[in-house]
Order: sequence, then structure tokens, then C-alpha cells
Amino acid sequence: MAAREVENIFVDILERAKALDPANTRKWFDELKVSHLDGGSLEIGCPDEAILQFLRDNCKNSFTRAAQHITGHLVTVEFNLDHRGDSGDFAERREARFRLHPDYTFDNFVVGPSNRLTHASCVAVSQSPGDTYNPLFVYGNSGLGKTHLLQAVCRDSRRKFCDAIIQFLSCEDFVNRFIRAIHEGELAGFQSQFRTVDILVIDDIQFLREREQSQEEFFHTFNALYNNGKQIILSADCSPAEIPALEERLISRFNWGLVTRIDPPSYETRVAIVQKKAHLRGMSISDEIAEYIGRKVHANIRELEGALTTICAISSMTGQPITVETAQQALAGQIESAVRHISITDIIEVVTEHFDVRLADLQSKKRSQSITLPRQICMYLARNLTKHSLEEIGGHLGGRDHTTVMHACSKITQARSSDAQMHALLGELAKQITQPSQL
Ligand code: ADP
Ligand code: MG
Repeated sequence: MAAREVENIFVDILERAKALDPANTRKWFDELKVSHLDGGSLEIGCPDEAILQFLRDNCKNSFTRAAQHITGHLVTVEFNLDHRGDSGDFAERREARFRLHPDYTFDNFVVGPSNRLTHASCVAVSQSPGDTYNPLFVYGNSGLGKTHLLQAVCRDSRRKFCDAIIQFLSCEDFVNRFIRAIHEGELAGFQSQFRTVDILVIDDIQFLREREQSQEEFFHTFNALYNNGKQIILSADCSPAEIPALEERLISRFNWGLVTRIDPPSYETRVAIVQKKAHLRGMSISDEIAEYIGRKVHANIRELEGALTTICAISSMTGQPITVETAQQALAGQIESAVRHISITDIIEVVTEHFDVRLADLQSKKRSQSITLPRQICMYLARNLTKHSLEEIGGHLGGRDHTTVMHACSKITQARSSDAQMHALLGELAKQITQPSQL
């Protein structure tokens, strides 16, 4: 295939993947490069390790489905590091020590009165690790951005201090690795791994509670690093003194540097976060909707994101613009629970009623257009609105095999993009299926 043709196909695949999974769509998708597309295999080059991990963890399914839709055959999708840039072997080896979420950068963090001091401390530490605030202890309720900020520090320090050894991990991971090291008689290796880093970042340190031996080990790690002027950054869901059954000597050490709290965000910050998150996903939502979500969701930013995700998923499935009513329903949990519980039977019911056909006809061998079209629409909607496999969908519709279902899906996808009437019809059917209470 000519390079140009491959690129064009890849653009279509990307568009399809975005529509299939808006929650995991990111603006930077457009910068991805196809490194290989041939027969049944698609390889996608990623500019860095964080993006690579994000795609492997979240996007394999949507990209595979998209590639199959667009090319019309079974495709295996692989994500790899793109070595054409200057991210050579060394960078890869350094990055392999931990995973960072590509969204968790300082640029993507909205600063407001509730987190200003913590944000400023994190920026200061990332600029001169080891000599401003050491240790830096960040605490606050779940979902207020602790992990986000800790990862932003790692990312920034790594850019500024290329040779620094940075270790980011959850406390649970630390404890598990410690236990494994004991079992395998590798304690010395474990100790030297953690005591020789330049920056140690441990997320959710409250996990040390009641784990005496791990506390002891962490105490020595802490001392070794601190005495050598290495930076330690910790987060927890409460202040050091409030962590149950934490040794006194650890509590006092955690207070040696700066202890800073993140509070729940104000209304203005919440609205700005919704707008930031929408922008990050390459979506546009009106101020009115951002304000609506900001007014309704208070405590936890994950809930703001959840609301945004639901709203966008619905608007992309139904092809309807996002309105305040959509937002209202999404927040009331109506849509979300409706989406979660959609069955193939719900879909068949709506489609047979619309076309005035019987289920028995859809399941029969009849091939007249008046039966084939609703049958194919059922397959398409089931593929897009449920998590059922091609085989299962085929099974519900007269025991058809997966290639028949795939063919139906790609035919309807094509019709949807070339025929405005079909587009409207599919949107209307999806709306009836996802919002039964509206009928
Ligand atoms: P925590 O570790 O405190 O439980 P996270 O760092 O996991 O919280 O944050 C939860 C979600 O909220 C993440 O997606 C994060 O990007 C987002 N978030 C939290 N605070 C902010 C903020 N001030 N600006 C942008 N996003 C934020
Ligand atoms: Mg966290």
C-alpha cells in the first residue's frame, strides 16, 4: 500500500476509535504515527512511554474495533515507542522505572485557592529537588489531585534533570515489592534500589498503617535518602499524625519538611477543571454546561470527570449535541445506569418496533431489504452500545457468524457517514434505547 494511502486509512481509524471511546480520546491522538499497516496488522508509533502505556491500558480495544471497521478484516493492533524522534534507548530505560499518566502534567492542572499552596510547593520541588521542601508531604481527600501533582513533579524533574534517578510508586507497590524481596531473599537488591535514587515519590503512604515491618524498612530508606540530600515526596489521605498506627518516628520525620493540604475546589475551579478536561479530550462544551456540571458536582473531581465522560459518550452515540438536559440526565445517573444495562433485547425491541418487523424475521434466513436493514442496524447498535462480542451478537440474531456481524457494522457505519437520514435515524434509535424513560 502506498504510504499516503496508509496515512489516510489511519486517519479514518483514529476518527472511528475516538467515536467508539470518547472517554479515552485525547487531543494528542492526532500526533500518533502509523509505523506499519498491512494485512492483519497495525502498528502505531508513540512519542513517549507515558503515551504508550496509556494507549496499551485504555485504547487497545477501541483501536482494534476501529481498525476492523475501517479495513473490513481482522486486525491486530500493537503500540510501540516511535524511535524516529530523539527518545533513544537511554530515555526508555530510565522511563521504564515507573509509569506516568500522560494527562497528569502541571499544564493540565487547574490552580485555585484550594490547591494553590500545594501546587506552588510541587513546582518548587520539581525545580530544585532535595533543597526546598524535604520531605514534601501532600494530603487531602480522595480525588483532589494528589497523584496528578506528584506525577507532574516527576515529569518535570525528569525533563530538567535528565540524569536524575526518579522512582514513583504507590505505597502498596512499595509494600508488595518489599514482601516479595523478603520471600525471594533479595532484600539487599530491594534496599539498594530505593536508597540510591535522587527523587523518591510514594503515593498514598497511609497504606503503611499497621504494617510494622514495612514501616521499619521505609524508615531506613527515608533516613538514607534524607541524609544524602535526596528528595522525598509523599501523599496521603490525611495528615501524618492522623495515619492510624503509624510509628511516632515516622510521623515526626514526615513533618520535617513541608506538610501541605489540598481542599475541595471552589465552584470557579470546578468549572475551570471541567473545561480543561473537555479541552484535553478535544471536545468542546459550552460555558453553560461546564457551569452546570461545576454547580452540581462538589467534592470529588473524579465525579466531575465521570459526568463529563457520560455526557460525551451519550452525545457521540446519539449524534445529538450536548445540551443542558443531557447534562442533567447524566448527572442524575439516569443515562449512566441506562447505558450500563442495555441488553441486545432492548435494542431489538426498539428496532423491531421502529421497522414494524418481528424478531422471528430478524432471526430467519430472509434476505429481503426490509428485513436485512433492521437486522444490520441491530448488529451495529449492539456493537456500539453493548460490550457483547461479535459472536454473541450474531447468536442473538439467528446464529450468524462474526464476519456477518462485522460486515453489517461496517456497512451501517458507511451509510451513517454518507447518508444524513441514516445518521439521524441511528441517533434517534440510540436515544430511545439509552433513554427509555423519555419514551
Ligand atoms: P487523588 O490522588 O488526590 O485521589 P487524583 O490525582 O487521582 O486524585 O485526581 C483525580 C482526578 O482529578 C484526576 O483525573 C486529576 O487529573 C483530576 N484533578 C484533580 N485536581 C485537578 C485540578 N486542580 N486540575 C485538573 N485536574 C484535576
Ligand atoms: Mg491518588
